Amino acid sequence: MRIDLHTHSNRSDGTDTPAELVAGARAAGLDVVALTDHDATTGWDDAVAAGQSLGVHVVRGIEISTRLHGRSVHLLGYEFDPDDPALVAELRRVLDGREDRLPQMLDKLAAHGWPIMMDEVAAQSGDAAASGRPHIADAMVAKGYIAHRDEAFNGWLNTGGKAYVDRYAAPLMDAVRLLKAAGGKAVIAHPWSRDSKSVLTPEAFDELAAAGLDGLEAHHNDHDAEATRELRGIAADLDLVVTGSSDYHGTGKSAEFCLGAHTTDPEQYERLLG
Ligand code: AMP
Ligand code: ZN
Ligand code: FE
Ligand code: FE
Repeated sequence: MRIDLHTHSNRSDGTDTPAELVAGARAAGLDVVALTDHDATTGWDDAVAAGQSLGVHVVRGIEISTRLHGRSVHLLGYEFDPDDPALVAELRRVLDGREDRLPQMLDKLAAHGWPIMMDEVAAQSGDAAASGRPHIADAMVAKGYIAHRDEAFNGWLNTGGKAYVDRYAAPLMDAVRLLKAAGGKAVIAHPWSRDSKSVLTPEAFDELAAAGLDGLEAHHNDHDAEATRELRGIAADLDLVVTGSSDYHGTGKSAEFCLGAHTTDPEQYERLLG
């Protein structure tokens, strides 16, 4: 059994449609794939239908943009009620926050001599639930300002970059509780990537476990062998599930984030979602 529990379609900042993503999962030899678009569940139905026709089990998931002590932390949620009113309201707030700060980011880019119109970003976001930084980056590529999406995150759109504007994110503990109350499972995505390492301390993990957290995504390209080992140790101490996944974004991320780049042990999967 090959299981990948973290992927993105064009309903957020990936480049495959949900059906293309599931076909790709099958081609990569995966038996189970979770669709975990940023703050959105709009790809679930298409992905599940594709999974049924292709013989791939699709786990219905999400990756929620959260914040802990001012730092960005990503929280994976699985198999929750997508119509839960409190959760839907919080996700709406995150999506609106992402959309609302767009004009300010475009103003900053224009001030640096790189004008981009709102509809040029919208052309890149297409079917996405909201336009985020990756779509601005794609518009920068389309305008010929930069060569690749990643370049935009080197000094421009990254936190503290010249065109960066902050946005709303759900308080982490609230997000865990909302997912659990909606009948779902909660797993911290790439706990020690980018800004989350400094705030996801042993004390924070204790508190999260007490709030009902189910697991840690220890196996991920953003972690080196040492970080993976340490996170596995923390998960074992707190009786949390350990997951592994690709964080696939289609051509929106480099080839090392291909489907199945990291996988989840079937026993761990059974504990989480069996
Ligand atoms: P937003 O939700 O609009 O703030 O954009 C956040 C998304 O941008 C993340 O989910 C990533 O996919 C991407 N992103 C954020 N920081 C970086 C970075 N340093 N390098 C590459 N992609 C990034
Ligand atoms: Zn993303
Ligand atoms: Fe993430
Ligand atoms: Fe992700």
